[in-house]
Amino acid sequence: MHNTLKERDRAVNWHPYTQMQTAKDAIPIVRGKGVHLYDDKGKEYIDAVSSWWVTLHGHAHPYIAQRVSEQLNTLEQVIFAGFTHEPAILLSENLLQLLPGNQHKVFYSDNGSTAVEVALKMCIQYAHNYGKAKTKILAFKNAYHGDTFGAMSVSGRSIWTQPFKDLLFDVLFIDVPTSENLEHIKHIIYQHKDEIVCFIYEPLVQGAAGMLMHKAEDLDELMKFCRNQGILMIQDEVFTGFGRTGRLFAANYLSEEPDIMCFSKGLTGGTMPMGITTCSDDIYNAFLSDDQYKTLFHGHSFTANPLACSAALASMELLLQESTQSDIQRIARQHRGFASVLSAQNQVENVRQTGTILAWEYKTGKQTSYFNEIGKLLYEKFLQRGILIRPLGNTLYLVPPYCITEEELDFVYAQIINISSSFEYPKIDS
Ligand SMILES: *Cc1c(COP(=O)(O)O)cnc(C)c1O
Repeated sequence: MHNTLKERDRAVNWHPYTQMQTAKDAIPIVRGKGVHLYDDKGKEYIDAVSSWWVTLHGHAHPYIAQRVSEQLNTLEQVIFAGFTHEPAILLSENLLQLLPGNQHKVFYSDNGSTAVEVALKMCIQYAHNYGKAKTKILAFKNAYHGDTFGAMSVSGRSIWTQPFKDLLFDVLFIDVPTSENLEHIKHIIYQHKDEIVCFIYEPLVQGAAGMLMHKAEDLDELMKFCRNQGILMIQDEVFTGFGRTGRLFAANYLSEEPDIMCFSKGLTGGTMPMGITTCSDDIYNAFLSDDQYKTLFHGHSFTANPLACSAALASMELLLQESTQSDIQRIARQHRGFASVLSAQNQVENVRQTGTILAWEYKTGKQTSYFNEIGKLLYEKFLQRGILIRPLGNTLYLVPPYCITEEELDFVYAQIINISSSFEYPKIDS
């Protein structure tokens, strides 16, 4: 008798962000096509969260598959120290053209967390190479920049980071800027300006914090202040990049230019893992020297993997097509319409939107938190109806792939209204 995929999975796999003792069996997915995932029983799911915010053009996209497969038959991998290849050259050329004008160099790594680690090391060693003893980092409260130690350190302190708190480096956390608190934030920064080497931030949308949003004009003002204080800026576009905000990058809403930018998630269209850290000439030049000690001693085995580069090249080609750009605008428009419907629901609050990202909270009489029970119950209800939505506690959000059709998105909205208006709020005894 054969064991099921679920049983075999349970026997050997440890899943991310999952309490394995109480978690339900993972759903075995056997294939994907466009916005849909299919499980081993043939059940179809609409992937309304782009599989953890990575998928841009849908699953198993034939054009990306073709380009990766051509690359696979040509050159699958080569050491990137001392060697190079055209996919990495072309990807850097193409990406830099789309970024703020000061971004001139590309450093490759494997995921969003490593892109952040590289950015932090660039800033700290920048100061070191110029003989300055500045190591303090500025970050937003509730920030999320990844799960490796450096990335955790610059992320908001939470239950996720609690066991490691004594080992995380010291960070100055500030509120996200609003027109009311900007002067106060500037005052705090000013008091520490001589120690602060850099400011790392998620521009416009703080994803893992629960899709919290702030205004471009307030961020711009804060960036300008940091620039004037000689504080380097790391703009983490791991989530916001590649169209999510309604423009190619959150940077397109800002007039200030960051020194360093981080990318991953949608970079390869969600096909292959890859991270990118880009920087200005000012950063790059600080590492140029006859002195070997000024080198950026960082690298990963799979740096600039040609397969990942070719997936990214194909995905960016698709992203720049007029039809994709109009899909992005259409999703943003549909979201705006649905946002007003949602706002009228009396269990719903804080409806907010930036481009293709829509989020809201359910009132539960309890504090918004990742562990809020309602999230788990809603997750199950949506799955039953063939929709993958992964609440962050009582925060729900939609981040669909751009290939989702108008009808499919309307179907998702209808299910949301249906479920949230019939939802019995759980009674949780304290
Ligand atoms: C997801 C995320 C990361 C971490 O990326 P991983 O690829 O999961 O390591 C970093 N920054 C932001 C803003 C993210 O959303």
